[in-house]
Amino acid sequence: MIVILKDRPDEEQLAGLVSWLKDQGISVHPTVGSSQTILGLVGDTSRIDMDLISALDIVSSVKRVQEPYKNANRKFHPDDTVIRVGSARFGGGAFALIAGPSVVESEEQILSVAEAVKEAGADLLKGLAFKPRSSPYAFQGLGIEGIRLLLLAREKTGLPLVSEIHDASQLPLFEEIDVLMVGARNMQNYALLRALGKTDKPVILKRGFSNTYEEWLMSAEYIMAGGNGKVILCERGIRTFEPSAAGTLDVACVPVLKELTHLPVIIDPSSAAGSYTFVGSLARAGAAAGADGAMLGVHNDPMRALCDGPVSLTPERFRKTVKSLRDIHKLIMEE
Ligand code: PEP
Ligand code: MN
Repeated sequence: MIVILKDRPDEEQLAGLVSWLKDQGISVHPTVGSSQTILGLVGDTSRIDMDLISALDIVSSVKRVQEPYKNANRKFHPDDTVIRVGSARFGGGAFALIAGPSVVESEEQILSVAEAVKEAGADLLKGLAFKPRSSPYAFQGLGIEGIRLLLLAREKTGLPLVSEIHDASQLPLFEEIDVLMVGARNMQNYALLRALGKTDKPVILKRGFSNTYEEWLMSAEYIMAGGNGKVILCERGIRTFEPSAAGTLDVACVPVLKELTHLPVIIDPSSAAGSYTFVGSLARAGAAAGADGAMLGVHNDPMRALCDGPVSLTPERFRKTVKSLRDIHKLIMEE
């Protein structure tokens, strides 16, 4: 971290700042120029409050030279993290495909979708038992019954399960679920993230609608700091000035995050698309950008879906999309 001081700083305040930093284990290296003095701070500055220093009278500005995320930072862990779930691999050059309905609606629905996506080559089954909705009056999922139906679908197909958890108190209900998903609305639910850090289950951490990469990685850091390194980042579309789709899928996050972090990055085009007609193109864009996988919404009868029908692929459309995704992934791996 670098602290740029204002011209002719008050000596007493400067001495106070330096001793406060030293007390926190930071060594301070001043560089005195003709018009400006700069303090170079060396040590673990992740706990130092930049805003507090910026607010001091004698300080002109403060800059971080090192990212505040340590566990997620590729600088300290150059190799890709590889997370294995069943026969699927997230990271390290594989392409993991998660598919399923937005919400578990009935036994018939989840079994039919599970069989279809398995046959089409999905690696994991996704279905929500607890679905966050913008309206409290909309269908919120089947709850515990939804979890029971997911377990039945795993029994029939062998596909590992992905489902969304909203609150740390739900953890016992998710004991049998293979991968826990944190939805966009909960990316900064720090109590939940901390609780997930104490589990050993892989976590899919979706990006919030309006969050920066750094905020997203700091949320991953919450989980990792608790001892759980199995975090998969999932881009699902952000809020921009463009209203025509549900969100703007930020495909650029894939190559950028690949530089910043060793964690796997997947994309969820269904949450961003607004219409199933865009899902395939967006999924292919993610694969071409180097994503480690995708999560696609599939429904046996989209017209009658209780949630997200307009963005759901039929099993037939899903099959075609899978083929193109696998082809693209193979192609870019050959690069
Ligand atoms: C979902 O896709 O099931 C979901 C809840 O999405 P998001 O959290 O990205 O809105
Ligand atoms: Mn969604």
